[in-house]
Amino acid sequence: MEDKTRPAAITLDREQHELRVQWEDGITSRYPLNALREACPCAVCRGGHEMMGSEHDPDLETIEVKREYQVSDVQLVGNYALQFWWSDGHNSGIYSFGYLRRISPEVKRAAGGQGNQPGR
Ligand SMILES: [Zn+2]
Repeated sequence: MEDKTRPAAITLDREQHELRVQWEDGITSRYPLNALREACPCAVCRGGHEMMGSEHDPDLETIEVKREYQVSDVQLVGNYALQFWWSDGHNSGIYSFGYLRRISPEVKRAAGGQGNQPGR
């Protein structure tokens, strides 16, 4: 079942170093920028061709952050996705809204799923 929920507001907060997406269903997702960079969905970052078609989505709360990233720019892509320009020059990751919903801990919690680790 593809999640078709769309953003009502998108905020790139450089001070908090996070992206906030307020969805039209009322959930607000917070994406730490470093984790978001590591979760880049492009083929190169997902490990090349052998990883293509993998059903596995990264977990933002446990993803390994290897370094600090800044965002130079973020733009809407065709009204269905966000594209980031990262400080390391990378920009080929297209983060569809469906993908952002799937990796959002807040959305998982709202769905009653796992993702909430007490004490973290
Ligand atoms: Zn990438």
